[in-house]
Amino acid sequence: MSKKKILVFASVAFIAILASLLIFLFRSNKVEAPNFRDNSSMLNEDILSDTEAEQKSYLDIKSATSQYVLVNKSNQVKPQDYRPADLVVADVDVSSSDTKDEQSVREIVKSSLEKMMRDAKAEGLNLVMNSGFRSYSSQSFYFNNYVKQSGLEAAKKFSAQPGYSEHQTGLSFDLSYKNRECYLEICFAETKAGKWLADNAHKYGFILRYPEGKESITGYQYEPWHFRFLGEDIAKDVYEKKLTYEEYLSELGLISL
Ligand SMILES: [Zn+2]
Repeated sequence: MSKKKILVFASVAFIAILASLLIFLFRSNKVEAPNFRDNSSMLNEDILSDTEAEQKSYLDIKSATSQYVLVNKSNQVKPQDYRPADLVVADVDVSSSDTKDEQSVREIVKSSLEKMMRDAKAEGLNLVMNSGFRSYSSQSFYFNNYVKQSGLEAAKKFSAQPGYSEHQTGLSFDLSYKNRECYLEICFAETKAGKWLADNAHKYGFILRYPEGKESITGYQYEPWHFRFLGEDIAKDVYEKKLTYEEYLSELGLISL
């Protein structure tokens, strides 16, 4: 082989090796390109959140036994005399003047309520649960008394009509200090307990059901003491979006406001 031929052969070989190397680098670069990976993971998240939204759009807000049931001034508990079959007295401090019914909540609420009250106590808050379950007959009794004292229109403003109280679901309760500081008063919101509950209740599956400034939506004045169980998933969602339960359901397309 002449020197010239060797030179040509070496050049061709060098070019071939260089070309293969470039192709290899180009391909591996393409596969590892960050954009490609990012797009695929974004796609997965989109699919997940769509499925999640779809699942939530099937929340049962009509059945009294559903933990998502919507009860407000235009949605009554059905049947009228509904009474949860799983009422229990949770291992928390309850008001001694309350009846056994009022000291009760549904079994599905029990452990979350106990955990929240334990953690509140660890924060130095001496809380007591008031008015858990309220039966149709006791709602009638209270409402009729309000009517006798203040007249029908006034009574409607500060009390639910019988059968329209969320307390009848066994998923709601009122909280107060043992010493009754700001008991069922707006000033409870400004106490250490009121603030702690507003900031933390969702972690245990509860929402502050009647927030400030949302009277026209919830139908109730601000009640910083009234909490409602929804479970951690939905409660966290409602809390983070800063919505009332009505607004949340409206966003899911389940009700119209
Ligand atoms: Zn209440």
